[in-house]
Amino acid sequence: MYNAKAYSAASAKSLLASTTIARRDPGEHDVQMEILFCGICHSDLHQVRNEWDNAMPTVYPCVPGHEIVGRVTKVGSAVTRFKQGDLAAVGCLVDSDRTCPECQAGLEQFCPNLTLTYNFPDKHLGGVTYGGYSDSIVVEERFVLRVPSGLNPAGAAPLLCAGITTYSPMRHWCVTKGKKVGVVGLGGLGHMAVKFGHALGAHVVVFTTSPGKKDDALRLGADEVVVSRDSNQMAQHTGSFDFILDAVSADHDINAYIQLLRRDGNITLVGAPEKPLAVAAFGLLFGRRSLSGSPIGGLPETQEMLDFCGANNITADVEVIPIQKVNEAYERLLKADVKYRFSIDMASLRSE
Ligand code: NAP
Ligand code: ZN
Repeated sequence: MYNAKAYSAASAKSLLASTTIARRDPGEHDVQMEILFCGICHSDLHQVRNEWDNAMPTVYPCVPGHEIVGRVTKVGSAVTRFKQGDLAAVGCLVDSDRTCPECQAGLEQFCPNLTLTYNFPDKHLGGVTYGGYSDSIVVEERFVLRVPSGLNPAGAAPLLCAGITTYSPMRHWCVTKGKKVGVVGLGGLGHMAVKFGHALGAHVVVFTTSPGKKDDALRLGADEVVVSRDSNQMAQHTGSFDFILDAVSADHDINAYIQLLRRDGNITLVGAPEKPLAVAAFGLLFGRRSLSGSPIGGLPETQEMLDFCGANNITADVEVIPIQKVNEAYERLLKADVKYRFSIDMASLRSE
């Protein structure tokens, strides 16, 4: 065991503050990384503030962070895919049972015995897992991803959650050339969905509550932008979408988007607001439309997404911040004021 620097929250009402946590010494299958950058996901904020009390209550102290890019500092004797000095990445998963049908299919995100990167029972040290707001982490090789060379590490970090969480449902629901695809909410996830939708050849329409994001949406690859508070603009798209990805972090009227789907169209929720969303039955019945959800992605698809980003030169648009600004960044997330992902430079933690 060794001590690592980290930022943790002591309670749902506490600010994140500097602390020291225990990490395990790397075992024979483990990779130890010096964390270079960690993205700030809105899930970090939900979890730190215990907003998912019913589904995933928070255990304190909580060290969030699951968009991790780092430099390998040590590998165990049985590790074959990484060596000291490699750039590597860790996302939302750090363990699963490997034997269930989901794991066998490479869909570890559905494993009944998965371990998330933070706030999940830590099999090695007891207590809960601690995430990437830290200067180092130790993860079993199987859960470590390769970062394609040429990708900027600060902008690559958010691919590990915002990237895979949007890429996976877009692939599952066959977003391709000729499809009309909506993206609701131009935040961290939403802006990645726009980039992927564009790269996959779809006609992408962004729905935003922030008129000031219009030019950015077009620059990111959207073909059209709708200010969702304008009902006339919304009505022009009734019954026309093959697929809509809803990446909104707060309560909103999902029925307004269900109406925009064509027959057999699908809207997938990736956003995880604190409170349940009300769904009107008739919006789904008429048109045989469907509503579904999607969590992160499995390891093979996460690597596929990273390689796709390498081939297409896709990274997140990031605002790099020192970790000392993390509490300020959370307040800005709540105001939808991020362009379009905060990425924490962990050099700021090392020099504290
Ligand atoms: P984010 O960067 O804060 O973006 C959320 C966006 O939602 C905002 O930029 C804003 O876009 C829109 N929005 C915010 N409040 C709104 C409101 N009251 N009404 C309508 N729109 C609103 O968050 P994120 O990191 O992308 O995460 C989005 C959600 O996905 C969070 O709930 C997060 O927990 C969840 N998530 C889920 C998974 C998964 O596995 N399914 C993975 C990661 C994150 P505009 O300004 O364009 O309106
Ligand atoms: Zn996330």
